[in-house]
Amino acid sequence: MTTLERDPKLSTSTDAPPAAAEPVDEVIEARMADLGEGTQVRRLLPRRQRRLIGAWCFLDHFGPSDISGRPGMRVGPHPHIGLQTVSWLLDGELLHRDSLGSLQLVRPGQLNLMTAGAGIAHSEESPEQRPPVLHGVQLWVALPDEEREGSARFEHHPELPVADLGGGVTATVIAGGGLGERSPAMVHSPLVGLELRLPAGTGVAVPLEPGFEHGVVPLDQALEVDGVALSVGQLLYLGRGRSDVRLRADAATRVLVVGGEPFGSEVLVWWNFVARTREEIERAREDWQAGERFGEVHGFDGPRIEAPPVPWRPSP
Ligand code: MN
Repeated sequence: MTTLERDPKLSTSTDAPPAAAEPVDEVIEARMADLGEGTQVRRLLPRRQRRLIGAWCFLDHFGPSDISGRPGMRVGPHPHIGLQTVSWLLDGELLHRDSLGSLQLVRPGQLNLMTAGAGIAHSEESPEQRPPVLHGVQLWVALPDEEREGSARFEHHPELPVADLGGGVTATVIAGGGLGERSPAMVHSPLVGLELRLPAGTGVAVPLEPGFEHGVVPLDQALEVDGVALSVGQLLYLGRGRSDVRLRADAATRVLVVGGEPFGSEVLVWWNFVARTREEIERAREDWQAGERFGEVHGFDGPRIEAPPVPWRPSP
């Protein structure tokens, strides 16, 4: 996933409120962003009210979209630094290619996890033969300092642990640990990512790690979280200090829960780069434009994505 906007803004974690130490109920509205080919996404992180939830620094929710007879998703080769991408589908299929030579189809219930370290490039596309509906999320996890210069890596996890919360409610542990289970995916800070499945008429208390801050996102239908009505396109930020959160669903829905220990460093997000300084972002941008550092993505039928100019330097 990428940002196709030609004038992406710089997002700095220190220009938003710090992690709340106590429980709060903060509704965050998605901003609609364009991924090209008519694919609209709900961008829920970073937003002005909230840049980070633990190490989670980016959250896009796309679809459900009927892509039959249309190109579907076609995101050409683009670079990343300083992050991990978490690709998670609710419906449909996507094909991932990267500069390590990975070629991997991902389906609902499976995880594609790409660790950029100091640099990687990838593309994402709807495969030629695919189901008609595309629905999913892509998240980024900021890497801590000791991992930011590390090597790039790609992991595909076809099976993930599922916790049973009773009453027909299940939770897949996508990343990190929670509900007594741990995802096999390699992450580098204390965090959790869950997909909950709630049948119609559910009332459930979901256990949480009190040291983590958390956010809850309804993916199919509206939901009541801690007594707050929440629709698709909204995230409820919960702060820290909760041992559980109450969810009520009239209609069956899937729900994303992300959480983590407050991230210790300032995080700059611009275009596809997660960094600590503007200079670091400028170097990554120059390297991408010069065809250096990130390697080649083979087999994508289309052009690579050129980097826009950085907004903090006047154009010559
Ligand atoms: Mn990407």
